[in-house]
Parts: sequence; structure tokens; C-alpha cells
Amino acid sequence: MFAEKMVELGSKRSTIREIFEFGNKRAAQVGRENIFDFSLGNPNVPAPKSVSDTIVRLVKEEDAAALHGYTSAQGDAMVRNRIAKSLNEIHGTHFTGDNLYMTVGAAASLCVCFKALAQEGDEFIAFAPYFPEYKVFAEGVGAKFVVVPADPDSFQINFAAFEKQLTSKTKAVVVNSPNNPTGVVYSEETILKLVKLLKEKSQEYGHPIYLISDEPYREIVFDGVGVPYLTQYYDNTFVCYSYSKSLSMPGERIGYIVVPDEMEGAKEAYAAVCGAGRVLGYVCAPALFQRVASECAGQTSDVAVYQKNRDLLYHALVSMGYSCVKPEGAFYLFPRSLEPDAYAFCEKAKSLDLLLVPGDDFDCPGHVRIAYCVKTEMIERSLAAFEKLAAMYR
Ligand code: PLP
Repeated sequence: MFAEKMVELGSKRSTIREIFEFGNKRAAQVGRENIFDFSLGNPNVPAPKSVSDTIVRLVKEEDAAALHGYTSAQGDAMVRNRIAKSLNEIHGTHFTGDNLYMTVGAAASLCVCFKALAQEGDEFIAFAPYFPEYKVFAEGVGAKFVVVPADPDSFQINFAAFEKQLTSKTKAVVVNSPNNPTGVVYSEETILKLVKLLKEKSQEYGHPIYLISDEPYREIVFDGVGVPYLTQYYDNTFVCYSYSKSLSMPGERIGYIVVPDEMEGAKEAYAAVCGAGRVLGYVCAPALFQRVASECAGQTSDVAVYQKNRDLLYHALVSMGYSCVKPEGAFYLFPRSLEPDAYAFCEKAKSLDLLLVPGDDFDCPGHVRIAYCVKTEMIERSLAAFEKLAAMYR
């Protein structure tokens, strides 16, 4: 009676959610302070004060009917122009509001781009480990989802495997840097290699292979590391941005897509984005938060807290014998599990009320994700449990 695939997707909770719910149950039994929950990527650093100040000012000063009314389907023109101006100042681009489409977060940005691109037989490629919803989004628009295995020594792109998986059916490649779940930032060298290969293969196959840059963590980087802005390297790039993490407002569901003028068939591409937005019902993103995002564009919540957490946890884990690629951004650590079966390892961690997510969920077995967007003092208190866990394997 109902679409079977939808029933199946809606009936299963993700492993991350299962672990989070387990944590809530245990917290009720033994007290929240005794649970070390590293399962969810929900930013704990509050939104900057400018966000609440802007909300209050807009609500007090603006005409309520206009403030809370529908905007254009692709987003308010003034909002889009302001965000374009901010991007140009930061990245040296030359966007206008006409290059932007406002959406409800990166999830919607990705779904709209996938829908705008997918035709029968198309393949979308992602690099393991990847945000698990990519597979759901890609298959949801009828595309085949192709995974390039990880290079676990660096978590940069595994080019040898990637090259083999590029075919004439490849429509788009999704990249996510800074990365969830590894925290790795793709170096400029990686990006240059990637775009060279995409240009060669686009030419060989006689059609563009699009790049979809999923970048909700763009500003969360440490030690001054740079994150290349991909439209500056590759014309056929869609940027999927979200304010969920940079401004710590994931619940407000606001972000945008950039379709640069240099993209092949740019006008048609933007029309396809608008069309996909219509089909999926992602039109007129929340009006108040369009305004807030545009007035706070370029600002971030306090990234120094994440850097402090990374330093504390990374150095502690390495000194205990865990092996981990040092993350340069986002708020995740992705160490190797201390036994090949990451599920079994996470069960042992769970017995110490240490809640970690098996890497299998990100298509990268033998690892675990630790989301350290938590209070620093919880990390400090959790170290004894990490030590006990390591001791179980000595
Ligand atoms: N992409 C990645 C890599 C993410 O980690 C997330 C959320 O955690 C999303 C997309 C979805 O973000 P949003 O809340 O903006 O929809």
C-alpha cells in the first residue's frame, strides 16, 4: 500500500540515533554525568550573540507580515545578494544573488543538487568514509551510489581506486572537507589532483562530471589551515553550504546552494536546481533565518573550543596507544578500533558508558567516530574510560 522503500527507510533508526537513545536511557539510570556520549554531531558551542541579537532586532523592528511571509522560491533577493557579497569578500569570487538558492540546511542542498542532476543510469561517487545520508539521498533520486574505498593512512582521496570507478555514467562526485567523520581537510594538492582528473575524464566521456562540495564545516578549522574554495578550481562545482555548524543553529534549518556562472549550462543548472526545489518542496527557506544568516554571514561560533577539545582528546588517545589521523577541522576524531570488528569494540566501550559510533556506518570498518562537539570537562572525565578500554586490549 505504501512505497516499500520509504517504509523501510522510515522504520530503521540510524546506528548513531540508536546509540544516542541508549545514552539517554543509561543517563536516566546512572546520571547524565556518568555517561560519555560522543555519538551525535550536535554543536555544543552556542551560536554567537549576534545571532540572538539579530533575531530580537528583526522581530522587534521589522514588519511582522513581511518578516514571516513567503519569500521568492529561491530565497529573498536581498538575502542572496548579501551572502554573495560576503562570499566574494572572503573567497575572491564574483557571485551575485542569482548564483544562490536558499535551502533548509546542507541535507536539502544535497537533495536538490542530486535531484537537479540525476537522469536514468547516472552514478554519483562519494569517498569513504562519508556522511551516511549521501547514499539515501542519491538512491532516493534513482541514481546509483558508488563508493571509493578510503585511504586510511591519510583519509585524503584514494586516487588509484577513484580512477577505476570513474565511468561514462559518472554524473557527479561528492566531496566533504572538512570531513565528517574524519575531521580531515583536503589539501590543495588533493584538490588539484581531483580537478585534473575530473577535467580529463569529462573530456574523455564528452560530458561534464559535476563536483558537489558539501561544506557545513568550512569554517571549523584549526591552526589556520586553509580550505580551498572549489568553484575557484573547478567550474562545474555546486557548493552545498549550511549554517548548522558554523553558526551552531542546526535546528533552524538554513543553508544555500551556489551555482557559479562558469558552470557548463549554468542557466539550465540553476533552473534545474529551482525545479528540483519545487519537486521536493524545498522552496522559500525559513524567512526569518534567511535574514539572520545574511546578517551574520561570515561570522562563526567559537571555533577555539573545538580546537581545545581536539587537542585534548587527540593527544590523550595517542598517548594511550590509539592510532588516529590528526584532524584539522570539523569536530570528529576517527581512530582505528582496537580490534578489527568496530561493532564489538563499541560494545566494549558501551560497557564503560563510553558511546562511540562504529566506522561501518560511514562505510569504513575498523574505525570509530568520536564526536567531540561536547563540553571540554566531559572529555576530561571520559579519559579514564578511554584508558580502561585501551587496557582491555593490552
Ligand atoms: N553533510 C555533512 C557532512 C554533515 O555532517 C551533515 C550533518 O551533520 C549534513 C550534511 C547535514 O547538515 P544540515 O543540518 O545542514 O542539513
